[in-house]
Amino acid sequence: MSPPETNTSPLAAPVSSLWGVGAERAAQLARLGVHTIEDLLLHRPRRYEDRRHFRKIAELTKEEAFTARGTIVVQGLKRFHGGKGSVFEIVLDDGSGRLHCRWWNLPFMEKYFAVGDEVFVFGKLKETKPRTMDHPETEVIEPGEEGFIHINRIAPVYPLTEGLPQRWLRGLIWRTLEKFEAQITEPAIAPGLKTFPTRANAVRMTHFPEELTDVEIARQRLALDEFVALQIQIQSRRKNFEARTKALPCGGDNRLMKPFLAQLGFKLTEAQAKVLREIRADMGGAHPMRRLLQGDVGAGKTAVAACTALMALESGFNVALMAPTEILAEQHFRNFQKWFVPLGIKVELQTGSRKSDEWRVTSDEAPVSFANLGLVIVDEQHRFGVSQRAALRGKGEGQPGSPHLLVMTATPIPRTLGLTLYGDLDVSVIDELPGSRGEIKTFVRPADKLPKVWGFIREKLAGGRQAYVVYPRVEATDKDIKAVMAEFENLQKQLAPFRVGLLHGRLKGAEKERAMAEFRANRVNVLLATSLIEVGVDVPNATVMLIENAEHFGLAQLHQLRGRIGRGTDESFCILISDAKNAAAQSRLKILEETNDGFQIAEADLKLRGPGELLGREQSGVPKFRFGDLAEDLELVRQSRDLAARVL
Ligand code: ADP
Ligand code: MG
Repeated sequence: MSPPETNTSPLAAPVSSLWGVGAERAAQLARLGVHTIEDLLLHRPRRYEDRRHFRKIAELTKEEAFTARGTIVVQGLKRFHGGKGSVFEIVLDDGSGRLHCRWWNLPFMEKYFAVGDEVFVFGKLKETKPRTMDHPETEVIEPGEEGFIHINRIAPVYPLTEGLPQRWLRGLIWRTLEKFEAQITEPAIAPGLKTFPTRANAVRMTHFPEELTDVEIARQRLALDEFVALQIQIQSRRKNFEARTKALPCGGDNRLMKPFLAQLGFKLTEAQAKVLREIRADMGGAHPMRRLLQGDVGAGKTAVAACTALMALESGFNVALMAPTEILAEQHFRNFQKWFVPLGIKVELQTGSRKSDEWRVTSDEAPVSFANLGLVIVDEQHRFGVSQRAALRGKGEGQPGSPHLLVMTATPIPRTLGLTLYGDLDVSVIDELPGSRGEIKTFVRPADKLPKVWGFIREKLAGGRQAYVVYPRVEATDKDIKAVMAEFENLQKQLAPFRVGLLHGRLKGAEKERAMAEFRANRVNVLLATSLIEVGVDVPNATVMLIENAEHFGLAQLHQLRGRIGRGTDESFCILISDAKNAAAQSRLKILEETNDGFQIAEADLKLRGPGELLGREQSGVPKFRFGDLAEDLELVRQSRDLAARVL
């Protein structure tokens, strides 16, 4: 007999078990996400103050925030507007000069300070005559035996919550570290970590670094631990899956593939062929395929999907292909009919008559309900999401002979995300576009250049080309539709006699299909659309795209949109109109002028906006790391994957 298993680590104890942490403090800490002693030890400082060196008050500037130290010589509270408004002010002197610190409408600040107090203050000057800071961060230097924790060192400054004093928290963390440092154990991976400090050292260095450079070293060590924990989870889940499921034999025998490739009209690129070899190995392997196929827009994922389907069909199984929108489903339907019907394969189309354009995998729409299903292909384009993936992962798990799964996405997923968020899928990349594509030239222009741009577009239309005009309406609210409708009239006038079509999310399926068909047949020269068209539409004669208010889109999304042009052999033009004033938004758009490489763009987007934004708002599945940074830590993620594999 053995006792029930419990988490016996002393670090798992609640913070309320610490000396000096009562119910009120515990509640405040909980608001910061700090519940256990371990949480407290991993509560990451927001910044550090080098309290070994100070700026003289006389040398403070408006440009940069600095820490200064001085004694309060005067303080006072002024009220105005009949007592409704107030300003509390202290004046500090450090021998070099005087500094006024003001707090507007926070009269209670008065009780935190007294003349004669010594104070640290961190901030930038608002005014220089007299030197004034508004709402600086401050900390009163209290004499006492714990003074050494706060002064003459690099002091951590923590995220706080209402009522929780910086000094108190710093003291608590110091004492907790003293008491529990020895209990911070090395995880099983430690032997592989010769170049890093121990975990316990890293925790200490995070809070009380001897040099500022220690902070990054410690961060990397703690980030690695986070990544390893995640990798162990992903890899053991995968192992489990493989142990419990058997694959259907779907390797095929080429009897359909050969005639298919012969009538396709082009030769597969080397990249497509390589991916197909990976897929064939999966389809004939012992475990059901769980593969993510990445390929920039226009890379030719559909042909790969068709070949994969043929493998299953040759093996006597049915195939389901799912698309996120009706337009795309119909486009696939046409392609697969053209390709497969001559081979004697029956192709059917099913579209939901639901209002939403987006198709979602939910458990009651389980693709496994199709009879004799050997393969499910999901064309998610950029909409591929963690929640869908989770739903799919569950499908058929545990039952023998669950279908193979191929998920296609045009979102170039940066390597760090591929290895973490998508770590339980194998990844194939089509990293080469079929040749003889025209180049896409991209320009960012302010709105006052629009007349010139219209002139340019008319020129291209006169030459027989077609164009897209895109507005950033992501959600089809009534107001947005009106905006698009108003623009529609405007555009018709602007571009007459050329014909303008309209495509937006509120149109019924048949209306959308008609708008697309007219554009495809070149009966309509210009398609005014919401970002709806970013999904899969393929009209090679369209060589111009104008995107208004481009700053409202993410980079990856703009890149997707841009992928609608450049599908023929001629040069194409993407014009991004933006009046964004801030330099960051402008330089973000410049990236698109500079590169057509989806991976570079995705990496840039990841750095600028973070993984949640990059993948779309619904990505609640993006793991939260305290120390790990998916935009920066590719090397650590790689290392963690190998370390986890060794542990398992
Ligand atoms: P995506 O990866 O964006 O889904 P598609 O499968 O729609 O790309 O392919 C884009 C275009 O390129 C299609 O017109 C398709 O027929 C064509 N295509 C695909 N593979 C090749 C190839 N190997 N050589 C020439 N053209 C190709
Ligand atoms: Mg496609």
